[in-house]
Amino acid sequence: MNDCLFCKIIKKEIPAEIVFENEDIIAFKDIHPIAPVHILIIPKKHIRTIDDLTESDTLITGRLIMVAQKIARDLKTSEGGYKLLFRVKKDGGQEVDHVHLHLIGGTKLREDIRPE
Ligand code: AMP
Ligand code: ZN
Repeated sequence: MNDCLFCKIIKKEIPAEIVFENEDIIAFKDIHPIAPVHILIIPKKHIRTIDDLTESDTLITGRLIMVAQKIARDLKTSEGGYKLLFRVKKDGGQEVDHVHLHLIGGTKLREDIRPE
């Protein structure tokens, strides 16, 4: 947890372009955006992957989605639509072991999730 990149962003030890923050969630711009809108929404609680969630994380998980909805509306991305993405572990392509919801939009997106 101490060397977790996203925990360092939460603690403001590493800079990020923060677009939303409350007591249990923070959202910031992805450093390598793949679309005009690319925001990462994360719980402040260190949870490694979606596979590590327990019943007690139900509320925070739902709140991540509600924050994504709010940011999408604030950025005027809602009308056209967008994608929400959780990558999970190795086969899912997860690179940072702290649960994060990708909000991707601002343009028409193609489908690209088929097996290699
Ligand atoms: P994932 O592959 O789902 O684990 O996504 C990790 C995301 O974190 C990638 O889209 C990276 O571009 C992004 N990322 C890595 N380091 C940073 C950082 N310091 N600030 C913002 N985004 C980052
Ligand atoms: Zn962390």
